[in-house]
Amino acid sequence: MTLTTEQTTAFEPLVSDFYGYHNLLSAQEKETLAALRAYLETEVKPLVNDLWERAEFPHQVIKRLAELGLYRFAWEETKTFENSAVFRGFVALELARVDASVATHVGVHNGLAMGSISIAGSAEQKAEWLPKMAAGEIVGAFGLTEPDSGSDSAQGLRTVATRDEATGDWILNGSKRWIGNATFSDITIIWAKSAEDGQVKGFIVKTDTPGYTATKIEGKQALRIVQNADITLENVRVPEALRLQNGNSFKDTAKVLRLTRAEVAWASVGNSIGAYDAAVRYTKQRVQFGKPIAAHQLVQDLLVKSLGNITASLAMVVRVSQMLDEGTQRDEHSALAKAYATARMRETVAWCREALGGNGIVLEYDVARHFADAEALYSYEGTREMNTLIVGRSITGFAAFV
Ligand SMILES: Cc1cc2nc3c(=O)[nH]c(=O)nc-3n(C[C@H](O)[C@H](O)[C@H](O)COP(=O)(O)OP(=O)(O)OC[C@H]3O[C@@H](n4cnc5c(N)ncnc54)[C@H](O)[C@@H]3O)c2cc1C
Repeated sequence: MTLTTEQTTAFEPLVSDFYGYHNLLSAQEKETLAALRAYLETEVKPLVNDLWERAEFPHQVIKRLAELGLYRFAWEETKTFENSAVFRGFVALELARVDASVATHVGVHNGLAMGSISIAGSAEQKAEWLPKMAAGEIVGAFGLTEPDSGSDSAQGLRTVATRDEATGDWILNGSKRWIGNATFSDITIIWAKSAEDGQVKGFIVKTDTPGYTATKIEGKQALRIVQNADITLENVRVPEALRLQNGNSFKDTAKVLRLTRAEVAWASVGNSIGAYDAAVRYTKQRVQFGKPIAAHQLVQDLLVKSLGNITASLAMVVRVSQMLDEGTQRDEHSALAKAYATARMRETVAWCREALGGNGIVLEYDVARHFADAEALYSYEGTREMNTLIVGRSITGFAAFV
């Protein structure tokens, strides 16, 4: 995969990539990351604090991210990727380093929605939908969580898909909550329990289908740029041709989540780095007691603990991505990375915020947004507890979910 760029920009290693994991990337991958970084720094970063305050999504990024090739990553479990998983992880890191909401938008469209079609769709469904989504012509969302079913979605989904015997269509009834991109998505992958066999199945639902309604969730205090919606489904008629043909149970949904959880772990490292870089900059400039606060031992302690968290988490996400490329990554591997990296991120952004004193809670100093956004990354795509229980089941043989 080559990210297309009009001009070539030299790749500068991040100083916060302290042990030099960028050395695992090919020259081509570094070049494409440099192009992405140049775009994000010049055209996205200047907008994000204001957008965050207004809780608005920058729709213009969709076309440009498509041109950069960011929606073209093939998500197929068994296929060798065109690009290394480590590179794709660095893409998530770069996005979240600038803005975790934009990273989340890409994670939902490319990872969860396109991933569902890649993993659970038929060859015809992939051919029909993925090119349009890769080009950014249509935007996807992923509807799993419900008002009354979050962590227990493997067994607790209330949304029901009933077969209309006369036409073969499916009739969907129920509701979804928290669905990212869903205020403007063209299609939403809806996961529902089949009334026929009780298994979870996935449906490509066109959002202009009668009976489908999406309403923006207001008042969020994290990832405010992401447009999350409550969805209601009232007798939404979906033809059999739009049921994901290879999605036969929640096990297939879980395959999608395994891949995207590792990406969220990478994004959490990026979100930490965004806060850490701002804290280093600020503490070198801010003078108290006659010298920069970075020259005080206790402030250095905050920065060094933060870098330790970032470096440990980066080691973990790099390895979990290498395991994906090797074909050895299992659910518990990405679950551990997600639980660990997001917990470390939560500590890190708090230390960085502390290092800025009062200015740490003001948007323009570039830490407050990362601090607040960490809370959403920590809880979505499986809370720390759920991912811990996945790992716990693996190491003990006992499922302790209920
Ligand atoms: C910003 C944001 C974006 C999101 N985007 C999407 C999206 O695009 N699509 C989608 O489908 N979903 C999305 N989600 C939903 C997200 O995946 C859920 O919020 C998450 O799975 C947790 O579910 P819940 O919020 O219902 O919490 P609950 O399941 O109610 O959990 C509340 C608390 O109880 C704990 N808990 C629950 N059960 C147990 C147990 N057995 N043992 C120990 N502790 C337990 C949890 O860990 C958590 O701390 C998003 C959420 C947010 C906040």
